[in-house]
Amino acid sequence: MEGNVKLECVQGDITQQDDLDAIVNAANAELRTGGGVAGAIHRAAGPELEEACRPLAPIKPGEAVISPAFGLPNKKIIHCLGPVFNIDKPSDELLARCFRNALWLADEENLVSVGFPAISTGAFGYPLEEAAEVTADAVHSVISDLDNVTLIRMVLFGDKDLVAFRKAFRMGR
Ligand code: ADP
Repeated sequence: MEGNVKLECVQGDITQQDDLDAIVNAANAELRTGGGVAGAIHRAAGPELEEACRPLAPIKPGEAVISPAFGLPNKKIIHCLGPVFNIDKPSDELLARCFRNALWLADEENLVSVGFPAISTGAFGYPLEEAAEVTADAVHSVISDLDNVTLIRMVLFGDKDLVAFRKAFRMGR
């Protein structure tokens, strides 16, 4: 707990977080389906998601936009474009902005629980430990601004990802 906000790091699939109001997509600029998280979210949500996203695209690194969740069990999907490591610069600031903007947006929309994947650590090449540190700092920096969000869950796909994020969030194993 940090103030009124519970922080969790779990191993799992971002499309299977039935108890969360919102999940965050590691999106591409066009908000289309793709590999990794974006592919999994679009497959689970169904083709209506791409349709709904079309007028919101393109987005820039660090930006976050929100859509309905369609076939997913959540209320909303927040789409963030992470930086391509060392191409979109400063990569740390752009990655931090994803988390801050997503949490502010969730809060504005009266959502109480939000799940994040490890944005930028897949196809976008951000080294895991560094991304975990930037993410933990960014999340901690906005917690005191949040009026509605009371649960933030990092959903890590792999075992190494879980270890890195638990370390960065100063959680024991
Ligand atoms: P990016 O393009 O922002 O790097 P990716 O989708 O390629 O995004 O990967 C981001 C992270 O999410 C990677 O660590 C990847 O292993 C992980 N990941 C991939 N699929 C899922 C999923 N279904 N649920 C949670 N995490 C996932």
